[in-house]
Amino acid sequence: MVRVRFAPSPTGFFHIGGARTALFNWLYARHVGGTFILRIEDTDRERHVEEATDIILSGMRWLGMDWDEGPEVGGRYGPYFQSQRDAIYGEYLEILRKKNKIYERDSAIYFRVSREPQLIDDLIRGQVYRTEEKDFVIFRSDGTPVFHFVNVVDDAAMEISHVIRGEDHLSNSSKHVELFRALGVPVPKFAHIPLILKTNGSGKMSKRDIGALVEDYRRDHFLPEALRNYLCLLGWSPKDDREIMPIGEVIRLFDLRDVNGNNARFDDKKLAHMNAVYVKNMSPERFLERAKNLLPGLGAEGDYADKVLLICQEKLRSFGELEHFISYFFDENFTYNRAVQSDLEGRDFVSRIREFLNIIGQTGDFSEQNLEAAVVKLANERGTKTGEYIHAVRFALSGRSVGPSFYKMVSVMGRKRTINRLERALEMLEK
Ligand code: GLU
Repeated sequence: MVRVRFAPSPTGFFHIGGARTALFNWLYARHVGGTFILRIEDTDRERHVEEATDIILSGMRWLGMDWDEGPEVGGRYGPYFQSQRDAIYGEYLEILRKKNKIYERDSAIYFRVSREPQLIDDLIRGQVYRTEEKDFVIFRSDGTPVFHFVNVVDDAAMEISHVIRGEDHLSNSSKHVELFRALGVPVPKFAHIPLILKTNGSGKMSKRDIGALVEDYRRDHFLPEALRNYLCLLGWSPKDDREIMPIGEVIRLFDLRDVNGNNARFDDKKLAHMNAVYVKNMSPERFLERAKNLLPGLGAEGDYADKVLLICQEKLRSFGELEHFISYFFDENFTYNRAVQSDLEGRDFVSRIREFLNIIGQTGDFSEQNLEAAVVKLANERGTKTGEYIHAVRFALSGRSVGPSFYKMVSVMGRKRTINRLERALEMLEK
């Protein structure tokens, strides 16, 4: 029976490295039909544990990683907070005492190591032997237990079969194997996942790096499934070129044996691109729902808001940009970007705006197709390119150089609004 755990310390942050460790545990459990356990390693009681635990739990939920045992869901092996497991640690300490594996010095309790090479059977690193040369403290002189001890006792008591964690813990594993052996319990298999390096490759991502925290992506309205998809690929790949993959497909294919032993480099551009693809691929219903949850004021704009949103979906890279991306559709006093204006100068753009204004009185209905046909005809007559009209008129209607597809934009704005805006722009430009 596969039992794996994610065992974060509540530090007040949910680092993407932690999220990736959680994810690989979760994927493996779901792949083999095992049990995924969440355990809070809160032995450092000085911190604001409750708040810090919440950050992790809500981040896990946001990323869609459900746990089978742990805080709030319970389970047979609880409690799942180390701060509540003192009695269990006491029992295991007694086992070591009876076996003469511990001694006291300066009021601290030391574990007596065997000084024999210990096999670390690692599914990613292969088989590694390491020897612990020095006895180490498992209870400090103030009576508090040390990480190595509680971590191993919990893995033993919770019958963890696979310890999947960051490579920064590889150096602890020989201590842990010594403890498992001394307790007389089975040693779990290990899988130490390579580190995540900064985008520029200069060392490990730390919580101070931009984009290092799950909270950052929540605040910026990333789609959780896009971040999760990206994290799947930080050290694992489906062995073909696929990158955008439904999570069910990742679960079907995921295996620890395929985790890459090299450090993975964090690529913020690739993540941003993935988010854009996920936004583009949302069903219209979900897209509208999410957009309106984010900008409740849109409710008052009725049908027009829906139309605006749907033509913007394909161009939007992130919901964090949404408010700015659509703002001018709903504001007749939008500002004209002066840099865009100066780029257009020298291209006779004011005449283009006037010519366009002169023909749109005659186009039949304001459909994309009719508008396009009218602009093509106009450009042919004037011996110029449609692009000249598109740039000039987009500026007049939005004050910008980018936005949704031009003909869709004009069609959605409708005849009256379009005419008003063209007149306002001409007034501003011809002053
Ligand atoms: N609390 C440890 C950490 O956050 C867990 C180590 C482990 O997974 O064994 O790094």
